[in-house]
Amino acid sequence: PLVLGIETSCDETGIGIVRGHTLLADALASSVDQHARFGGVVPEVASRAHLEAIVPTMQRALDEAKVTLADIDAIAVTSGPGLAGALLVGVAAAKGYALAADKPVYGVNHLAAHVAVDTLEHGPLPEPAIAMLVSGGHSSLLLVDDLTNGVTPLGATIDDAAGEAFDKVARLLGLGFPGGPIIDRTAREGDPASIAFPRGLTAPKDLAAHRFDFSFSGLKTAVARWVEARERAGEPVPIADVSASFQEAVCDVLTAKAIEACRTNGVQTLVIGGGVAANSRLRVLAEERAAKHGIEVRVPRPALCTDNGAMVAALGSRLVAAGVAPSRLDLPADSAMPLTAVSVAG
Ligand code: ATP
Ligand code: MG
Ligand code: FE
Repeated sequence: PLVLGIETSCDETGIGIVRGHTLLADALASSVDQHARFGGVVPEVASRAHLEAIVPTMQRALDEAKVTLADIDAIAVTSGPGLAGALLVGVAAAKGYALAADKPVYGVNHLAAHVAVDTLEHGPLPEPAIAMLVSGGHSSLLLVDDLTNGVTPLGATIDDAAGEAFDKVARLLGLGFPGGPIIDRTAREGDPASIAFPRGLTAPKDLAAHRFDFSFSGLKTAVARWVEARERAGEPVPIADVSASFQEAVCDVLTAKAIEACRTNGVQTLVIGGGVAANSRLRVLAEERAAKHGIEVRVPRPALCTDNGAMVAALGSRLVAAGVAPSRLDLPADSAMPLTAVSVAG
């Protein structure tokens, strides 16, 4: 099927077009620069930017794919989770286009779309698979038997998301926003073994109740304390070493628990999605550790890891192929859409 996907859950206006597993267009407009001086995404600013960008982005996507709206078989749109006002712009646009062109519309889960996008790069996902979703708002391990049917959560962060930790640590190091890509770059010049930062929820007593859960807020505090102590002593802060050691602590825990989830469930495939999946160290460490256990790691290219329209189209394409019923035209923008709902029932 030829499916168009619309993404507006946060600060990226994304419209992607796929045919089956083939990516035909991925148009993106970002308001990230407008949020930088606030150190985080400002919901009102994001909503307004989506409104301005949605129609031109639609045109760019159709041009890039060399198709018209009439050629499209179905429209998929992020229904949630995300910022309510931002989601509303995408959902309203999807309804408008669906109504005007008489197309079925699928309201889909943004997090499931972060998992589905890998199919555009590596083809059909072998199932069952373990999916590790690591983004600005979420960090979860999921068992995926059939992505079009739902996922089984195995664990999640009990405080900060992995991306949030990157953003907060970058901020306290004065590196700018969003922090993930900057820390990734800065860490290349540093020694990941120079500072022993804590690995959250890995002690035997924590593992009993939180085997597949994560915690990153203690790590962030440990970094803050370490930097403060340096400053109090009047010594320079080795930014690259702090970045590399922090990044190592995050990637160590994420990959260890992901591999453990695969082994416990007898699963051979680990797919990683979400903005933090773009992290270069995470990709290398996951590969290294998975190889020891004969587990295949699938991570899409960095541009597909962060928010985009292609991921929504990719999930929509799978739903259409699986014969899942489209959503009704009154589908909601659901800022708290649970991970267990892959699409809005028709
Ligand atoms: P969610 O998907 O949970 O709703 P979101 O859509 O805001 O949240 P994404 O766009 O998927 O999140 O990811 C953004 C996050 O990814 C940010 O926290 C950013 O710092 C982080 N990130 C992006 N690139 C990298 C990288 N190379 N290394 C580490 N983190 C990164
Ligand atoms: Mg973003
Ligand atoms: Fe996202």
